Amino acid sequence: MAGELTAYQIRITGIVQGVGFRPFVYRLAQQYHLKGWVLNSSAGVVIEAEGDRDELQEFAHIMVESPPPLAVIRNCELKAIEPRGFEEFSIRHSESEADKAVMISPDIAICEDCKREVMDASDRRRGYPFTNCTNCGPRFTIIKDVPYDRAQTTMAPFPMCRECRQEYENPLHRRFHAQPNACPVCGPYTTLVDRQGREVKEKVVTLLKQGYIVAVKGLGAFHLAADAASADAVKNLRQRKHRNAKPFAVMARDLQVADRYCLINDIERKWLTSPQAPIVILERKDDSWLPDELIHPGISTLGVMLPYTPLHYLLFDDELELLLMTSANISDEPLIINNQEAMEKLSEVADFFLLHNREIFNPCDDSVMRVTPLLTPQLLRRARGFVPLGIELPVKTRPVLALGGEMKSTFCMTRDGEAFLSQHWGDLSHYHNYCKFLDAIPRFKKMLDVEPEVIAHDLHPNYQTTRWAREQTGIKQVAVQHHYAHLAAAMVDNGLTGEVLGVICDGTGWGTDSAVWGFEILQGDYHSFQRLGHLGYVPLPGGDLTIRRPYRMALVYLLQAWGEEGLELAERYLPALGREEKQVVWMQVNKGLQVVPTSSCGRLFDAVAALLGVCSLNRYEGQAAIELEAIADRSVGGYYDYELERQDGQWLLNVFPMWHGLAADLQQGQPVETMAGKFHNTLVEMITGVLKRVRDETGLNRVVLSGGVFHNQILLLRLVQRLLETEFIPYHHQQVPPGDGGISLGQAVIASEVEL
Ligand code: ZN
Ligand code: ZN
Ligand code: FE
Repeated sequence: MAGELTAYQIRITGIVQGVGFRPFVYRLAQQYHLKGWVLNSSAGVVIEAEGDRDELQEFAHIMVESPPPLAVIRNCELKAIEPRGFEEFSIRHSESEADKAVMISPDIAICEDCKREVMDASDRRRGYPFTNCTNCGPRFTIIKDVPYDRAQTTMAPFPMCRECRQEYENPLHRRFHAQPNACPVCGPYTTLVDRQGREVKEKVVTLLKQGYIVAVKGLGAFHLAADAASADAVKNLRQRKHRNAKPFAVMARDLQVADRYCLINDIERKWLTSPQAPIVILERKDDSWLPDELIHPGISTLGVMLPYTPLHYLLFDDELELLLMTSANISDEPLIINNQEAMEKLSEVADFFLLHNREIFNPCDDSVMRVTPLLTPQLLRRARGFVPLGIELPVKTRPVLALGGEMKSTFCMTRDGEAFLSQHWGDLSHYHNYCKFLDAIPRFKKMLDVEPEVIAHDLHPNYQTTRWAREQTGIKQVAVQHHYAHLAAAMVDNGLTGEVLGVICDGTGWGTDSAVWGFEILQGDYHSFQRLGHLGYVPLPGGDLTIRRPYRMALVYLLQAWGEEGLELAERYLPALGREEKQVVWMQVNKGLQVVPTSSCGRLFDAVAALLGVCSLNRYEGQAAIELEAIADRSVGGYYDYELERQDGQWLLNVFPMWHGLAADLQQGQPVETMAGKFHNTLVEMITGVLKRVRDETGLNRVVLSGGVFHNQILLLRLVQRLLETEFIPYHHQQVPPGDGGISLGQAVIASEVEL
């Protein structure tokens, strides 16, 4: 017996547009014999549905519990209304509302259905590089304005053909209102040209197999592609791109190929094949051959991604299974996104260009992540597939624009309890990166429809972002100490409120005493923080030069630990250090000339790596630390001595006893692997030791771990284990990078709490 007629109005917010939500609701309504309508409003999706009470409830339940794959439901409001006696269920035209809580989806990797069509010789979209549907394809990179509508995207110049339009208008079709819908008849197309811009008849895969380097216009930027198994091609690309030692990422034709080269666990597999399709850093198999120029011999990992657009399928065939794929920008310049720019800037780098005529509006790099030994995701770069997805905040915030740091920069805007991080802009001390960063701010404002009331920036007086913030008038500015921002970012990442302890192991950050901080024991919440302890200061001579040359930092530590005797140890263990440079550094340290005190953890890693002969030059950021981690023997249990000292009400972490231990081990000819292992253990013991003391003092037991050094998997795993053993509750990053790519998130929440 049919129940009484019941009616609900349902309002849903989140990522519910452009992801097939309305057709899903439509089909679901049919299934449950409901009448009424669904429509997209600028606030999300609104539904009125009436029918049998039980069926209606089941309908609402399924809608929230198992929405379409790309939908993210943030909020669902349901209220009973008077039934109106609708005759059918329909999809209504969009209305616009003042409150624009709708969110834009990130770009999504090609779905299985589209993949099938592209591979199917009888399908009208066989081999078509721009195939997409409501479950996959470009979003963020093509959108110019909201609401998300074809006319507001870079697909606007491509009117749909009859067949595409039919799909687009059919509520039961997978392409119903798929804004970038296209086919070979009506959509964008690719052209393959040589350096002179002349069209080339060969297939792109043929050229790649011949060892040529091809610039490929992709989803969010140009890539440079080359056959990863060809030592010559890889060497060529490395030389032409002026990229020294930094390992390249590869794109594997499929999962089977990736399996041949790397050890992949289930969680890594899930991420590789996820809609985000990031570069996943994997452990390489020992027996898989790859050219030395591709992989750095000192590092046992390989960054791997799978094809994430149909265009990528053009780059592979039965013989070509692994491609080196690297962003086409030259050194640290911005991503290249348009055809002409690519032809000009890459004329000496690429042999051929695979171009297309769909504009990339928002540049977006590949995301890079790894699965930690704790089996949690850790982002190294949060970009394609993630941006502009909101991060839920544990506190209410006012609209804030937070500008982040200077390296690995991102900005962050808050709106209604969510934070929206921008894509990655690289090093802002490069003028062009800085310009792109500034261009993107108004775009985010428009996309999110928010007008920030506060600007947050780093405490560093000379960061580009600090200067820019200070130029803005009529808006409150809040300077946030770098490592406090790290602490808050880790809190937000884990949904924490209230006071916590923080261990920040980082490279560089401007301290409240103008020293270069980087190994900090903090206590804080979103309102304020206190420094409870830090690595004992050592002098940092000549800033950037010492960051590039770890052996200089080793000399500093030797001099601090031994005095003049340190010079002899330097003679013996630091072959890269020239006589003259040694004298200069010694004098600087002695007289305190052109030195700044530093507690940097990154510099400590550099110094130890140089002393052990692992790495004496940082040819890319973090190289010494990465190589020290790679060589460390993980089975070693011992650690070196350290001291915890009390000074001016703070704990000083004194590592000079460790330096004496290292020197003794060196003298005895201990294996480098053992010493590197013991070094990691020393940090774990020392951090745990100081935390126990500050726990006694503060009564706080929750510890957040942040800072770029926590990309180190040994340190992360061991410290978390040790903290759990000693009954702390440790938290680490999962949604944003532990490094500076994440700090804008922390800044935003801190600035939001400031009294205006
Ligand atoms: Zn699809
Ligand atoms: Zn078409
Ligand atoms: Fe940092």
